[in-house]
Amino acid sequence: MSEEKKNKIKGNNKFESALKVNEGIEQPETVSKESVLKFKRKRRKLLTVEQYIEGIEAGNVTILGQAITLVESKHPKHQKIAGEIVGKSLIRTGNSIRIGITGVPGVGKSTFIESFGKQLTSLGHKIAVLAIDPSSERSGGSILGDKTRMEELSADPNAFIRPSPSAGSLGGVANKTRETLLLCEAAGYDVILIETVGVGQSETAVHSMVDFFLLLMLAGAGDELQGIKRGIMEMADAIAITKADGNNIDKAKLAKIEYQNALHLFPPSESGWIPKVQTCSSVSGQGLNKVWETISSYKNKHEEYIKIKRREQAKYWMYETINESLRNNFYQNKDLKTKIKIMEKMVKEENVSSFKAATTLLREYFDSMQKK
Ligand code: GDP
Repeated sequence: MSEEKKNKIKGNNKFESALKVNEGIEQPETVSKESVLKFKRKRRKLLTVEQYIEGIEAGNVTILGQAITLVESKHPKHQKIAGEIVGKSLIRTGNSIRIGITGVPGVGKSTFIESFGKQLTSLGHKIAVLAIDPSSERSGGSILGDKTRMEELSADPNAFIRPSPSAGSLGGVANKTRETLLLCEAAGYDVILIETVGVGQSETAVHSMVDFFLLLMLAGAGDELQGIKRGIMEMADAIAITKADGNNIDKAKLAKIEYQNALHLFPPSESGWIPKVQTCSSVSGQGLNKVWETISSYKNKHEEYIKIKRREQAKYWMYETINESLRNNFYQNKDLKTKIKIMEKMVKEENVSSFKAATTLLREYFDSMQKK
C-alpha cells in the first residue's frame, strides 16, 4: 500500500488537497465582502437601452447575448429594459426566414442543424439557432444546452446559437424565444432556426412563431414509435427523412413515398402549399440543398401569405403575453398562495366543487387587486 493510502486510512490528510497552503507560509488575506460585492456589481453593470440597440444593430454578439439574458431574466428591472430594447428594435426585424424544426430525440435534429447550418453560412447566410424546451429546467439538461452539440457550427462566426430559456411554463419559455428571435433579426441574422423536441405542446408554440415548419422523421419506424402526433404532421410544411445514407438509403426512399401518401390525406393548407417530403443525410450532406430549395421556394411563392401569417402570430403573442402575465400575477400573489393550496385539498377531498373553489379564489384575487 502506498504511503498516501496508508495516511488516508489513518486520517492523516497530508496528501488530500493539491491546493493546501503549507504551514509556515504566510496565509493570504481573505477577500473582503466589499470587494466581492464590488466585483459582482461591476459584472452586472447594465448598458443603456441605446447601447444595447447600437450593439445589436452592429451585430455585436456579446451585446446580443447580454440583451437576450435580460429578455430571459425574471427581474422586473431587466424585464423593463428588455421590453424597451425589443420594442425599439422592432423596426429592424422581419428580414429573415423563420424555420421551426422538430422531431423526436434521436432523429438527428442537432446533427441536421449543424450540417444544414454550415451549408447556409457557406452560401453567405447568417443563421441564428434557438430552441424551445420547456422541460429543460426539470430534466437539468436542455436541448442545445450541451456545448458539445453543434461544435463546428458554434465556432462559425456567421452562426449564433442560443440554448432554450429554462424558465417555467411553456408559454413563458416560448415568449422569450420569440423575443430572442426578434433581437436576432435586428442583429442581421437572415435565417432563424428554432429547434424543439417532438413530443409535446412545444411544437404548437414554435409553429406560432415561424414561417416554415420542418418535421424530421426516421425511416422504418412507425409513427407510433416516433411519438409524432397527427397534429404535428398536419403542421409540417415539409418532412425530411433523416439518416438517408449507407444501408438506410432504400428504407428512406420507401418512407418518403409512405409519408407523401399520408400527407395527401390531410386537408390542404391555407396557403395552398403542398407539403414536400424529402430524404437527407446530415453525414453525407445528400439532400440538404433540396431542403433549402424547398424552403426558399416556399418563401418566394408565399411572400404575401407569410406577411399576413406574421401579423396573426404577433396578435397571438400579444394575447399569450397577457394570459401569461395574468396567470403569473395570480399564482405569485402572496396572500393567495396558502389559500390556493387549501382549496386544492378541499377540491380533491370533494368538500367543494372545482368551479366554486376557482371562483372564490378569483374573487379574492380581484378584490385584493382593487385594494392596491
Ligand atoms: P437529436 O436528438 O434529434 O438532436 O439527434 P442527434 O442529432 O443527436 O442524432 C442522434 C444520433 O443519430 C447521433 O448518434 C448522430 O450521430 C446520428 N445521426 C444524426 N444524423 C445522422 C445522419 O444523417 N446519418 C447517420 N448515419 N447518422 C446520423
